[in-house]
Amino acid sequence: MLTCDTPNVWTQFLEYVKDHCSPAAYGNWLAPISCVESSNEGITLEVPNVFVQDYLISNYRQDLCAFLPVDGKGNPAVKFVIAAPKAAPKSPTPAPTTQSAMPAASSTGDKRCVKLNDNYRFETFIEGPANQFVKSAALGVASRPGQSYNPLFIHGGVGLGKTHMLHSIGHYIQDHQKNLRVQCITTEAFINDLVDSLRNKSVDKMKRFYRSDIDVLLVDDIQFLQNRLNFEEEFCNMFETLINQNKQIVITSDKPPAQLKLSERIIARMEWGLVAHMGMPEVETRVAILQNKAEQKGLNISNNILFFIAEHIHNNVRQLEGAINRLSAHSRLLKETLTEELVEKTLREMLQQAPKARITVEQILKSVAAVFQVRVSDIKGSIRTKDVAVPRQVAMYLAKEMINESLMTLGISFGKTHSTILHACKNIEKKVAADEMLRRQISMVRRNIAA
Ligand code: ADP
Ligand code: MG
Repeated sequence: MLTCDTPNVWTQFLEYVKDHCSPAAYGNWLAPISCVESSNEGITLEVPNVFVQDYLISNYRQDLCAFLPVDGKGNPAVKFVIAAPKAAPKSPTPAPTTQSAMPAASSTGDKRCVKLNDNYRFETFIEGPANQFVKSAALGVASRPGQSYNPLFIHGGVGLGKTHMLHSIGHYIQDHQKNLRVQCITTEAFINDLVDSLRNKSVDKMKRFYRSDIDVLLVDDIQFLQNRLNFEEEFCNMFETLINQNKQIVITSDKPPAQLKLSERIIARMEWGLVAHMGMPEVETRVAILQNKAEQKGLNISNNILFFIAEHIHNNVRQLEGAINRLSAHSRLLKETLTEELVEKTLREMLQQAPKARITVEQILKSVAAVFQVRVSDIKGSIRTKDVAVPRQVAMYLAKEMINESLMTLGISFGKTHSTILHACKNIEKKVAADEMLRRQISMVRRNIAA
């Protein structure tokens, strides 16, 4: 790895990366880089601009280390030079191979924006206590864009309906205020767009588009802006311009603003309006979602079975949909009646039975006791002081997550009712969102159990 056949390392790296990324990403980001010098000590790369440099380092640091010489600190030994701008005035870098891999440079807003998914509407969003707040905030924003909360920041885990909510806002505004120009972008597309514009010398056009051709901007997955310093600043400028003109902005993210690795300036901006958390729907809401999806598929499933699925799939709404799709395919193919056994068989992989079955409540109790420094007997007992009550709820929360048993059975193991377990889970889910220390303790318990 260290003594490398220098002229080739960059080519080898490129060949490797080419197989591991999309042709568009390759064409946009990697192909424009050329290796201008290389030795055993390091290489010098010529990049069209600082964004490409930034992209390379933030996305391929490890791969670069594997292929290129490494410096004393374990970083890839790469120097960058920015390509001289003289070639540009006539036409953007006319390298034929890169051009063919690149999407045609368009100056309209069309390619920048995501088409709203027709199924993602308020009417198809099932409400429950965990997402009611987000939904009413979203409706508020959609009814009076730019006049209520601005920005609206929606955060929550994967597959919980953030994109669904974002698109619902877009549809609602398009349906009710046809004069407003709604644009929905993913953060990745924004970054790609910015890079394209830089390469094509059309940044001004792009800026004009984002700053004056938009009334409502919907931004999906802002977490992808993390560690992209140069893009962050441009995003922040655009954000401020729009907000200052009372243009509505809605942002989704997998974390709350304060936990994003972004500058204080942009975090503060995102906290200006309303920050709303999208939680995992409770079991009753999950049943309602399943019911709804089953109806859409014309699938007849008993309530018992819906409840069974809802109890077993508890961290991702997309998986609930997946379960219904699978069952639908299965029952169509085999023309069998859906019994609990058949459902269990069909969904086995999804229910993650194998890893769950191996863990016992006793193991969890021991591990929780060790991490929180309390006695197992206290956790099992009924003392209600905070230093015991929190670890007790954590144990219940982890038991529900890691053990493939019904709430009823878990309740019995803890000498409590199933609703106590459910309450504990909700409480911990809520606490975890705001308490970094607790998150660490819980992951320590998990690691302990796995070890
Ligand atoms: P995220 O963006 O949070 O990862 P998505 O918005 O892509 O999640 O949601 C995943 C899938 O689950 C989508 O098909 C969405 O329609 C569906 N979904 C999520 N929450 C709900 C809900 N409350 N009611 C109905 N469908 C939902
Ligand atoms: Mg999403």
